[in-house]
Amino acid sequence: MRVLLIGSGGREHALAVGLAADPSVEQLIAAPGNPGIAAVATLRDVNATDPAAVAALAVEVGADLVVIGPEAPLVAGVADAVRAKGIACFGPSAAAAQLEGSKAFAKGVMAAAGVPTGRSFACTTAEEADAALTEFGAPYVVKNDGLAAGKGVVVTDSLAVAKQHADECGQVVIEEFLDGPEVSLFVVTDGTAAVPLMPAQDFKRALDNDEGPNTGGMGAYAPLPWAPADLVERVMAETVEPTLAEMRKRGTPFAGLLYVGLALTKSGPKVIEFNARFGDPETQVVLAMLASPLGELLHAAAMGTLADFPPLRWRDGSAVTIVVASHNYPGTPRTGDVIEGGELDGVIHAGTVRRDDGALVSAGGRVLSATATGSDLAAARAAAYELVGRITLDGSHHRSDIALAAVEGRIAL
Ligand code: AMP
Repeated sequence: MRVLLIGSGGREHALAVGLAADPSVEQLIAAPGNPGIAAVATLRDVNATDPAAVAALAVEVGADLVVIGPEAPLVAGVADAVRAKGIACFGPSAAAAQLEGSKAFAKGVMAAAGVPTGRSFACTTAEEADAALTEFGAPYVVKNDGLAAGKGVVVTDSLAVAKQHADECGQVVIEEFLDGPEVSLFVVTDGTAAVPLMPAQDFKRALDNDEGPNTGGMGAYAPLPWAPADLVERVMAETVEPTLAEMRKRGTPFAGLLYVGLALTKSGPKVIEFNARFGDPETQVVLAMLASPLGELLHAAAMGTLADFPPLRWRDGSAVTIVVASHNYPGTPRTGDVIEGGELDGVIHAGTVRRDDGALVSAGGRVLSATATGSDLAAARAAAYELVGRITLDGSHHRSDIALAAVEGRIAL
């Protein structure tokens, strides 16, 4: 297979490593890619959110499969444009990607499908927002309706902060606070058949002890030693199957990666959000554990033959990834700092560029993530932190407590 991978972040680097390791992937082309991806793929330049440009590139390189990493190209209709050229594409249509593109749309699908989730109101005026905030009380959850790269959600005890966020966003979803540990479940689907991957946990807050602002994600681990044994089965039955059925019923089947973000509340798993693509940084750990061929899996989903795919195989042990972020992230990050250790095994590039003089420098908020596996979670965690210690990036910060509560058995259900 000749595979064209679209995107340039850490998720795409992890996908590239997984695809390159699949013997059925003879050639891997990534666009636009990044310096880490360049080690395992041929890079091409493209405007990833331009459907015509991506489709033309797929034709030009003779792609048998296009894999779309980020949400923005999906919402822009890149998968539709690629499929219109008769090329298999892993990623939902623009219509189906609305499950991520609009929080209000996703809530509507969940309601129609009877999926367990928090009660919520879609609000467009300050009066509506005030009424919803009063109805639910603190802690307040205010979500920008549209795409916000994981940073559109404010969870706060301050009514003033909640109101201000609603005011700044204009169109918001205000939701009941869901209390309980969070789980990210990735499901590969062709619209009908659905294959869950290993549940993972990510760390959204910028600082240790889940303090500070929400970010795109500061680290992750998998599997979850504390998760209930029936978790995946239950979420597939209560959430994934009804959602896929509802999307088929609407004439917009969802085929690609359905990311189910859950809170394990006292009254069971409830959906916090859907995404229409692999999550970053959970992809780094989930794919580090996957032993089945990634290219074949995504190809089967793109071709509608997932029902015939053999049961997934997983490696023993655990995986942990720790994000190294730029000075000031998640505020406007400082860029252009020189990185040492970027070529080490297990280092995944997210926001890096190669300067003309060959130096690797930071180019975004989340710069790198250090991913390691181990025979158990404690060993994987130690190895990931050892790897972080070998990376230098001036002014950078990372959390020191990724996977710690799980290692210490402190996660209560
Ligand atoms: P989202 O973009 O919807 O995933 O929200 C980002 C993060 O905000 C989630 O991972 C949660 O940590 C938090 N969050 C979102 N919605 C809720 C909720 N209803 N209750 C509690 N926390 C939430």
